[in-house]
Amino acid sequence: MSWISKARRVASRCLTPLALRAAKAYVAGERLEDALAVADRLADRGLGATVGYWDAPNEAPSTVADAYLEGVRALAGREHAYLSIKVPSLQYRPELMGEVVAEAMRQRVRLHFDALSPETVDPSRALFEQFLDAGAELSFTLPGRWSRSVDDAAWAVERGVMVRVVKGQWPDPAAPNRDPSEGFLEVIDALAGRARHVAVASHDVPLAIEAINRLRNADTSCGLELLYGLPMPRSLEMADRLAVGVHVYVPYGRAYLPYALSRVRSNPRILWWLVRDAVLACCATSPADRDEHELADARKG
Ligand SMILES: Cc1cc2nc3c(=O)[nH]c(=O)nc-3n(C[C@H](O)[C@H](O)[C@H](O)COP(=O)(O)OP(=O)(O)OC[C@H]3O[C@@H](n4cnc5c(N)ncnc54)[C@H](O)[C@@H]3O)c2cc1C
Repeated sequence: MSWISKARRVASRCLTPLALRAAKAYVAGERLEDALAVADRLADRGLGATVGYWDAPNEAPSTVADAYLEGVRALAGREHAYLSIKVPSLQYRPELMGEVVAEAMRQRVRLHFDALSPETVDPSRALFEQFLDAGAELSFTLPGRWSRSVDDAAWAVERGVMVRVVKGQWPDPAAPNRDPSEGFLEVIDALAGRARHVAVASHDVPLAIEAINRLRNADTSCGLELLYGLPMPRSLEMADRLAVGVHVYVPYGRAYLPYALSRVRSNPRILWWLVRDAVLACCATSPADRDEHELADARKG
């Protein structure tokens, strides 16, 4: 084994416990109540929320479905809040999805499909189509990093569904070097003037401004969406200035880092984020306390 591989193994052994701790900075807590507490604080400040249960690897699909059902019931009556779900975690099982959709229809809660790796898109789209006319509001995520998302945007437009555009965490195997920001704007262009509503989900302020302007110039309804734990002050200031509505995605359950440690070499700031997040996760007396500090900072801008 070369010294480089040895050094990598040692580094990864040191980084893993740090990463597990740091990831906690990106979830409201382990329980639904933790996420609801954050969503209610956001509502007090005029911000919407989407709550999402993040399951652990190998969690039974029926357990995940139960968490989604619990989430739907808890969000009933909470205006400006909706549920984000990961249908691969249900193993695309129609009977489980059917239960969640029926409850979402009864409680009038929107269900939003998060995007995962590229191979999950076709089965997710098929499940989405199957339940599109079942009576609940369903919406879908389009990652700008994937070249297929331009076609998926046309599909969403045809069906009149609301979409969320993100840069995407998984690269496109067919176009691994596709620039996420350029791709993001290509998808926005495919939606502008055609889509029912577009959520611009990015903390990249110049990119979000450009996307919002393009949508508004085409008279397309849009909003800004942010991820709990990522920096918000500049985005919130921009949203205020442009008078655009904001939703914050508040995950709970299993914590995952929103950045890949394998990218440390190309983006050394990731190492700083890792240490900062680990310290933050340690220092907060509770997730709700940390949220209070972050929102206070965000209001200061
Ligand atoms: C509401 C919402 C929902 C999402 N849903 C999905 C989904 O379903 N599927 C999916 O694949 N991805 C999803 N994502 C993640 C998304 O794909 C990006 O990975 C993530 O948003 C980062 O990209 P960005 O556009 O915000 O811009 P970036 O360019 O990554 O970040 C913008 C700015 O924030 C800074 N920054 C970024 N991360 C950190 C950090 N950890 N600490 C400190 N500063 C940081 C950067 O330095 C930069 O200045 C979602 C994101 C949001 C906001």
